[in-house]
Amino acid sequence: LAYTGIYTDWTREAILAEVEKQMKPSRFQHVLRVEACSIQLAEKYGASVEACSLAALLHDYAKEHAAESLKEIVLSKGMASEMTGYGSEIMHGPVGAYYAETVFGITDEDILDAIRQHTIGGEMMTLLGKVLFIADYIESGRAFKGVDEARKLAEDSLDEAAYFKIEKTIIHLVKKELPIYPGTIYVYNSWIQRKV
Ligand code: GDP
Ligand code: FE
Ligand code: FE
Ligand code: FE
Repeated sequence: LAYTGIYTDWTREAILAEVEKQMKPSRFQHVLRVEACSIQLAEKYGASVEACSLAALLHDYAKEHAAESLKEIVLSKGMASEMTGYGSEIMHGPVGAYYAETVFGITDEDILDAIRQHTIGGEMMTLLGKVLFIADYIESGRAFKGVDEARKLAEDSLDEAAYFKIEKTIIHLVKKELPIYPGTIYVYNSWIQRKV
């Protein structure tokens, strides 16, 4: 897959090398599987393959950065300060989008939003946003209970698969007695209110 240069001056190979430096090998392999899955979904649902590839390669760029480093970006760039209370889990998407823009020169708002929203989803998600949100959840290395049902839903409807992830994530967090970020609840409410 060769990039056309419309979204970034970086080649895919240069991006791979830079992303690989940011994380342990197992997470880099996850990123590659998310890209493969995103491309499949893009082809199936008619999204831009190049945009989906880029969003996938960059989505977890900041995931292993120290919480203090993530926090520094969140607070200095005017992002919602409440997200600092959840370790790297909620911050790494928005901070990843910040690096997509500042390191890789990406200005396409659909790509940046997809990266920003990939953990909690969004009240409004574009096709690209849904592709990344679902690919991150169902990539071939994922093995949690329910992943096969999610994969099956994604064959017919990105919205059904997205709703499934949103609902199961809340259930999972409650069962594990983990704190739920308010944005996670907002997204759940907007999806359940639209589901008739
Ligand atoms: P990953 O970066 O590929 O591991 O996947 P994600 O970015 O989708 O998710 C990162 C983690 O954040 C997952 O373990 C989710 O369960 C968790 N997560 C999602 N929403 C919330 C939330 O509201 N609160 C907390 N504490 N964790 C969350
Ligand atoms: Fe992530
Ligand atoms: Fe991920
Ligand atoms: Fe995870």
